Amino acid sequence: MSSPESPVRERPGFFASAKAVFLNLFDADYVIPGREKYFKPDTELIDPVRLIPYIFLHSGCLLVIWAGFSWTALAVAAFLYFVRMFAITGFYHRYFSHKSFKTSRWFQFVMAVWGNTSMQRGPLWWASTHRHHHKHSDHEGDKHSVRMHGFLWAHIGWMTCSKNFPTDYSKIKDLTKYPELRFLNKYDFIVPLSLGALLWGTGALLERFAPGLGTNGFQIFVWGFFISTVILLHGTLFINSMAHAFGKRRFKTTDDSRNSLILALITLGEGWHNNHHRYHGSTRQGFYWWEIDITYYGLKLFSKLGLIRDLRPVPEHIYEEARNGGVQEVKKAA
Ligand SMILES: [Zn+2]
Ligand SMILES: [Zn+2]
Repeated sequence: MSSPESPVRERPGFFASAKAVFLNLFDADYVIPGREKYFKPDTELIDPVRLIPYIFLHSGCLLVIWAGFSWTALAVAAFLYFVRMFAITGFYHRYFSHKSFKTSRWFQFVMAVWGNTSMQRGPLWWASTHRHHHKHSDHEGDKHSVRMHGFLWAHIGWMTCSKNFPTDYSKIKDLTKYPELRFLNKYDFIVPLSLGALLWGTGALLERFAPGLGTNGFQIFVWGFFISTVILLHGTLFINSMAHAFGKRRFKTTDDSRNSLILALITLGEGWHNNHHRYHGSTRQGFYWWEIDITYYGLKLFSKLGLIRDLRPVPEHIYEEARNGGVQEVKKAA
């Protein structure tokens, strides 16, 4: 029996633990108590609780064994990959993280919901985590650095670490003033679950009214919700891992960022990552016409439609630096 002077920490019961895990999965601002070991600054640990969403998404792809294939389901998955990758790069990255253009409040909300369909958590978490990456890129403090942590951790390991789970609201004060964004960020499961229901419902309607397409609710759900999302996730994560390991360096930035056409095609423009690390304020990441940047073309179209405005260009001094071989070391942006 322990004395009152040396209390033994009570292990929470099964139901208390289950409730904490449930809250952690459905409330992005809830942190499970008693897990200090995962939050130590100098340790990088996979938290089994944080593995749950990724095991769920990846193992869900196996349902294709029972769901089967149809060209309709494949087209839905490809379409969802394209429009959600556009939302990640155009909205979560170039707008929420870098404010490289302006928009109205209602379209800002549309962009947040659209980005949230990608199942890469809420816009505020995404933006705060990404701003942190630019501040520390490939140096101490970077959450996902190939140089510091190895390829696999930089790719996906870091997302299974509880330390990287809470949103650092101090880095995104320009965004936290909008309650609708805070709500979306806190309950970041609502939009993905709604997408899942929409996909299942659409598939069921197609089965009933267009049986010639050979699909059904379950099949569209498996291809749209699981398969498309997992490919989208790894496509996006390639920028943290591959774009800091493979490709060419135009600018001698203080990180390992690289430019890659293949990654730019996979990610609709994010592959020009060395350009981006040199100057992250511009809307375009392909700095020249031959550097294909599909997201930029889409954003130009959105600006012509009046949905967004004031797209920020690449400054002349950056082009001048590129003409000179990008040789000068650049000071890290604060
Ligand atoms: Zn980077
Ligand atoms: Zn960035």
